[in-house]
Amino acid sequence: MSLEYTYPKLSSEATKNLINEVNHYSLSNGLVMYKDNKNLANETAVAPITLFPTIISKKDFIKAVESQKLYNKLYANILLDEQNWLSNEISKISFLDPEFTGKLYDLYVKYESDKVYKKQQLELGIFRNDFLIDHLNENQTAIKEVEFNTISVSFGGLSNKVSKLHKFLHDSDFYVSENEKTSFDNQLLEVPVSDSLQNIARSLKLGVDSFEKQQDKKDTIVLFVVQPNERNVFDQRLVEYELYNAYNIKSKRITIDEIDSFIKKSESDSQLYYDNGALISVVYFRSCYSPNDFLNAKSWENRLYLESSLAVKVPSLKMQLAGSKKIQQLLTKNEVLTKFISDDSEVKTLTDTFVKIYPLDDTIDGKFAKDLIKENDPSKISNFVLKPQREGGGNNVYKHDINPFLLNKYPDEKEWDGFILMELIKSVPTSGNVILRNNQLYNVDILSELGVFGSVLIDNSSKQILSNTYDGWLLRSKLSDSNEGGVAAGFGCVDSLALI
Ligand code: ADP
Ligand code: MG
Ligand code: MG
Repeated sequence: MSLEYTYPKLSSEATKNLINEVNHYSLSNGLVMYKDNKNLANETAVAPITLFPTIISKKDFIKAVESQKLYNKLYANILLDEQNWLSNEISKISFLDPEFTGKLYDLYVKYESDKVYKKQQLELGIFRNDFLIDHLNENQTAIKEVEFNTISVSFGGLSNKVSKLHKFLHDSDFYVSENEKTSFDNQLLEVPVSDSLQNIARSLKLGVDSFEKQQDKKDTIVLFVVQPNERNVFDQRLVEYELYNAYNIKSKRITIDEIDSFIKKSESDSQLYYDNGALISVVYFRSCYSPNDFLNAKSWENRLYLESSLAVKVPSLKMQLAGSKKIQQLLTKNEVLTKFISDDSEVKTLTDTFVKIYPLDDTIDGKFAKDLIKENDPSKISNFVLKPQREGGGNNVYKHDINPFLLNKYPDEKEWDGFILMELIKSVPTSGNVILRNNQLYNVDILSELGVFGSVLIDNSSKQILSNTYDGWLLRSKLSDSNEGGVAAGFGCVDSLALI
């Protein structure tokens, strides 16, 4: 292995020191997470993290970062589309997932046809586009899109903290190994900091400012809609404190089932107020992305109650639907993509990051994919992952499990259309980094997923994109032999980058 790619090999004494540094830094800076979601009181722990930043190529990193504003524009244009292509496409599949996509879509239709409430024309999106690094061959890598998230994107707070931690350790020589020269010792690497925390707070502030200007109000607050017993609560709190410290904007946190107790909507002008009388300018969803977030029919009613208020929603129901896997699949088709992005070189930048995604419908592509699943040839099907229209991890079906899953659970092939079949991105595991989790070290091969944050503010009345920003990045790593990498779910950890 070449010098450039080696991680420090520290003595046990140096490792002990390093862990002590990591623990102190993390506890001092809020790089923490609850251990589980059952017994939250006093059960904080250092968030699962890597000891070292993971080395990736600067070229791939820059490509991912530079594509963000283009991806933002793509999704903004989908939302602003006069023909409402999005709604038309979602209507064709929403009934296949009656538990979630169907309900979301029904709410959206109800909201659109509602004549009582005044509609907010501004929509704010805080997105995260996730990539894996595909190893095309021994010397060539390329970033490939895993998925585009439009709701409840997490780790903007912790990513800022972990990247600062790694930079601090690097600059303070905690990565200098005694016997063996590594790239870290030689300072060959750039260890960047992700400003995701500051940028996401700034984007929320833009929502607040735009609302206040539009409504001629001041001192409005942000409403965080959160899950009860959230393990990753400190990641959210960091955003809340940043909003207060940097801009003097206050926030309140409630669950979707607490709306009745804490929120009032004015019948005359659709303004949303918190219990203490504060006017709410922005409703920021860090929940409501999975059916588990809606306990009963009342939870769904509450979601609509928020939607049909004058507050700016992050995201609106429509923007949430734009993040569907089905929409991602459709966008890989040139004739669809070019409806929303016309410039050839921009189209190429986007298409370069796509892998093949198939529908499971009656089109030629769809038939091809359905045959592939039915044939179940191990050499072919092992290159694919099946995805439903869901978020939050743990929903995908991999490789040879796809065939029995569909055949047993969905004997009527017409129902397969609610899924997409995606080529697996072949990223090569990294050896040499170490995961620290609950004070235990795991010296294992890891796979890393790079997330890029971005925001858009759009105005439906003027049909304009008012703001489009790149908001920082995130690296999450997981054990290379587990299929999914949810940090909160227990498979993965928060990491950062060393660029080479
Ligand atoms: P979710 O919205 O639930 O996060 P994702 O599409 O991100 O769904 O899939 C979850 C995880 O599955 C990803 O974080 C990644 O680890 C893995 N995964 C998804 N798609 C691919 C793919 N095409 N190639 C390799 N791994 C994938
Ligand atoms: Mg997702
Ligand atoms: Mg994901």
